[in-house]
Amino acid sequence: MKKIFIMTDMEGCAGILNHDDWVTPEGRWYEKGMKILTEEVNAVIDGLIAGGAAEFLVADGHGAGGIDPLLLHPRALLLRGNVPYPFHMDSSFDGIAFVGGHAKAGTPFSHITHTEWFDRIDISVNGLSVGEYGEMALFGLELGVPCIFAGGEEAFAREAEALTPGVVGVGVKRGLKEDGLDHLTTGEYRAAKLDAIHCSHFEACRRLREGAALAVRKLLDSPASFRHPAVNPPYRLEVRYRAEKKGEPQRTACHTHESSLIKLFNSQW
Ligand SMILES: [Zn+2]
Repeated sequence: MKKIFIMTDMEGCAGILNHDDWVTPEGRWYEKGMKILTEEVNAVIDGLIAGGAAEFLVADGHGAGGIDPLLLHPRALLLRGNVPYPFHMDSSFDGIAFVGGHAKAGTPFSHITHTEWFDRIDISVNGLSVGEYGEMALFGLELGVPCIFAGGEEAFAREAEALTPGVVGVGVKRGLKEDGLDHLTTGEYRAAKLDAIHCSHFEACRRLREGAALAVRKLLDSPASFRHPAVNPPYRLEVRYRAEKKGEPQRTACHTHESSLIKLFNSQW
């Protein structure tokens, strides 16, 4: 009876064409964006069920909210609220699956690229650069829950495969811009990575369904094939911020914890 934690975000879905129109409540296509994400999540759940998983907690991880509860798969439970890391994931889960994920700040050929918000240049733990995927992978390391599936934009899927070998990555759109844009302000970076080629929503759902089924079969047949990131305590988190205005200095914040990655990240915000 495999139980899967499903982490969701909006920016990495196929058909989410830009940030401001599609993933913000004031955006003109926000409701469509929620429908796209929710249907991608449903496709992943169908795949996870086909592979043999039985229980699903869907965490709505997009800042403003990205899941439409009216459209969500009947087999899913939905988590939403002001909850600390790691969003009620615990060691009772057998695997983590991602839907709608985007690559970390600074990644070339990624779409709507950022980590947490467009003001971060990079977040690292003991020198290992992590985005939103990497943060969850680190919580998974602490709790003994492996990342098994990473659905989102191409650059996100490749980032996941590099950080946690064995994870099944599925890309549904490809960003068209290089990066190397650490000198940009937050506002400039927010507008800088909005070009992509998307596959159709239907094809995205098909790929996600197939990949999720494969991930659960791997989990059942060879659980040791899923690897955690390699980081050892004590932990040091470093966050580098962009300048908010042209000419202002960039700044860096550091936090440390002797033994817990979860406590380390919760000390930051
Ligand atoms: Zn995000």
